[in-house]
Amino acid sequence: MKDLKTNLWGIDLGGTKVEGAVLESASFPQVLFRHRLPTESSQGYEHILGQIKQMVDHMESSLGYLPAKIGIATPGTRNTKTATMRNCNTTCLNGRMLKEDLEKLLGMEVCMANDANCFAVAEANMGIVKEKCPDARVVFGVIMGTGVGGGVVVDGKVINGLHGIGGEWGHNILDASYGDLCYCGKMGCVEKVLAGPALEKYYSNLGGSPKKMKEIYESYTLGRDEPAKKTIQRMIHFFGMALSVVVNILDPDVIVIGGGLGNIDLLYTEGRVSLQNYIFNDRVFDTPMLRPKLGDSAGVFGAAFLTNVQVENQQINLL
Ligand SMILES: [Zn+2]
Repeated sequence: MKDLKTNLWGIDLGGTKVEGAVLESASFPQVLFRHRLPTESSQGYEHILGQIKQMVDHMESSLGYLPAKIGIATPGTRNTKTATMRNCNTTCLNGRMLKEDLEKLLGMEVCMANDANCFAVAEANMGIVKEKCPDARVVFGVIMGTGVGGGVVVDGKVINGLHGIGGEWGHNILDASYGDLCYCGKMGCVEKVLAGPALEKYYSNLGGSPKKMKEIYESYTLGRDEPAKKTIQRMIHFFGMALSVVVNILDPDVIVIGGGLGNIDLLYTEGRVSLQNYIFNDRVFDTPMLRPKLGDSAGVFGAAFLTNVQVENQQINLL
């Protein structure tokens, strides 16, 4: 049902597509509207703003009204002090005051979070967490794919953090003795050890012919590929070590593992054992580790949930 007060509007700003969605309400997140446009990021910053405006116009003509606020999932994060974007792989966004520019252009409040945070928000509010662990309050969403990221969600609300870097476990230092310089300027980040490309490079350095992680894993399961065995063992070992840092601090009620590497079964068995070995805990580690449910849609749905006033109020009461 179209309802100005309860509908949630969101946009996922990706490198190749701008996706818009309107959900009926936080308690009944039925999709009322969904549409995609190409980002055409090579045409520059102003063009991207124009594509977002075009999407909002389209949403307005479909729904028949404009909301007071909209959520936007972005690549990279916003520096809360300078109000500018950083670490976006759509590089023309970096250094730009995206939130302010969009608020001016759209005439509404913009709630922003990066795509990993939106992934966690969506899975927590309407995805696998809602389905399997509806009472969970603290959710850690992990992305392990071409990069490593994450998002912390408490009572349905994302923790962006004072500097806007909440959940960025991918740039914790893990193994400074190995790995290339990370784009963040440090050596040995989790991302430089555990992302797909890092493990693929490790495999080929051991003499394996260049392969994608999926093939390396298949090769490992067949049992005759020594470099594949070493690569998978490395992944399991460092997965536990890297995630233990997060678990020791947050002790989340549930962990959701997204991204291409999240499909590797072993993470949920041997990866769990590895994690258990590194955390500060005197009983069985029984935190549910779940595969996500929403796929590609998590970005846009999570963006929509950023605007959920009710959740914000709950958070204020908690504090
Ligand atoms: Zn880094």
